[in-house]
Amino acid sequence: MSALDDNIQKAEAHLARFRAEGVQNLINGESVPAQSGDTFESITPVDLSTLCSVAKGGAADIDAAAQAAHAAFPAWRDMPGKDRRALLHGIADAIVARAEEIAFTECMDTGQSLRFMSKAALRGAANFRFFADQAPAARDGNSSYAPGQINVSSRSPIGPVGVITPWNTPFMLSTWKIAPALASGCTVVHKPAELSPLSARLLVEIAHEAGLPAGVWNTVNGIGEDAGKALSEHPLIKAIAFVGESNTGSHIMRQGADTLKRVHFELGGKNPVVVFADADLERAADAAVFMIYSLNGERCTSSSRLLVERSIHDAFCALVAKKAANITLGHPLDTDTTIGPLIHPVHEEKVLSYMQVARDEGATIATGGEKAGGALANGCWVKPTLFTNANNRMRIAQEEIFGPVLTAIAFDSEDDALALANDVQYGLAGYLWTADSNRAMRFSDRMDVGMVWVNSENLRHLPTPFGGTKNSGIGRDGGDWSFDFYMETKNVCFATDAHRVPKLGG
Ligand code: NAD
Repeated sequence: MSALDDNIQKAEAHLARFRAEGVQNLINGESVPAQSGDTFESITPVDLSTLCSVAKGGAADIDAAAQAAHAAFPAWRDMPGKDRRALLHGIADAIVARAEEIAFTECMDTGQSLRFMSKAALRGAANFRFFADQAPAARDGNSSYAPGQINVSSRSPIGPVGVITPWNTPFMLSTWKIAPALASGCTVVHKPAELSPLSARLLVEIAHEAGLPAGVWNTVNGIGEDAGKALSEHPLIKAIAFVGESNTGSHIMRQGADTLKRVHFELGGKNPVVVFADADLERAADAAVFMIYSLNGERCTSSSRLLVERSIHDAFCALVAKKAANITLGHPLDTDTTIGPLIHPVHEEKVLSYMQVARDEGATIATGGEKAGGALANGCWVKPTLFTNANNRMRIAQEEIFGPVLTAIAFDSEDDALALANDVQYGLAGYLWTADSNRAMRFSDRMDVGMVWVNSENLRHLPTPFGGTKNSGIGRDGGDWSFDFYMETKNVCFATDAHRVPKLGG
């Protein structure tokens, strides 16, 4: 048996329970079908076959989950931080124990390759551990002094919160949003993406097996415009942490307006990687290739615009095209695979539509530009693509394609590069390659994005702020920023002497 057959067999063993029972909602510690009894089908992008049925939750299910989260809130809020820390570390341990199941399930549900998903559980566990360790101090504030007064601030969890996640790396992103919510003392209603519901089910199940009290974390599956909308409108839900498209963020903001929802948005990107002629070009090319073609290009921080100094533009693009053409497409469970199938035929169609857009706009398809054929023709594989001869006004340079598609543009000067880098509606991330440290400081300071990586593909450090400017988001995650979102800050002012209280009315 080949290694791939062996992996497929293992994946089938993990999927058997979903195939037999489907995916139910988990509300107040109980697995339940949607109240309507409705379900929808989840397919695998590998061959478009059905994986399982999924409970199609709606407003009634969201209401039940919000009531459960509301009822569980006081006890969870009042649990000592060190006890919450221990519980969340227990969840991290349980995640690691089921790492293979999580990875294989995620690969089959999303099409992401095992090469990257094999680390999904470890990263998810790291998210839990990082935020768990901050739980004991989460309520701390500071004190400030002024003549005649001492001020003391403290924080408290805001209440039950809604978490709405996308399909690109659903397991990692769910842990990234939910771990800090729980660590801060909030209870959670999670609405996973309808295209990738399986790993969210594993995650909430793991949390309960690790001892999380009923009602603290509830998962309701369903369609965004239905279950997601109901969650963002629910009066008992105090805040919505959302990761997804910028347009959806606008909807959620509108939907949450009547109940004055606090929102935290991690949205789309069209992130520039700016390569100056003095950079280490081999490393820069590897980094650019990694950040657009790993995770199938379905990555918010993908380096989807390649801005290259004109003197090296042609040679650099040729290098990138050569590397792109060498990337292995294949079954996500094949350990040699870098690019797996895109999440769904509708998304594949969107990504492929940009090949025609590029032609119509007069750009050149230097490599890729089409669906993969042969044995991969039955799934959603798109060849790694590079567009050259582009300019920043083209749609291929402005719109988030969210696939393995890179648009290269030449620049003539630092000012030119900066203008191009900033001239998009998005502002999530920027990547900068130069050997000139003064330029690196000057340029990164002027980039209108939330995160800049200098001479690296995307080194992560969980205490650093993560998030975007402009249409890429509102708020930051990571470090203490997550806690600030999930908590209210209260200030108490103590008068230290008998100051003159104004006398009105005698
Ligand atoms: P999406 O916006 O279509 O869906 C995300 C989630 O929102 C899903 O759970 C969906 O059901 C729900 N939803 C849809 N309509 C809703 C509504 N009206 N009310 C409430 N919920 C609703 O996004 P997607 O296609 O699943 O994911 C891809 C997008 O996510 C890309 O734009 C990508 O850049 C972005 N993303 C951003 C980050 C980041 O950190 N900035 C990370 C990953 C993905």
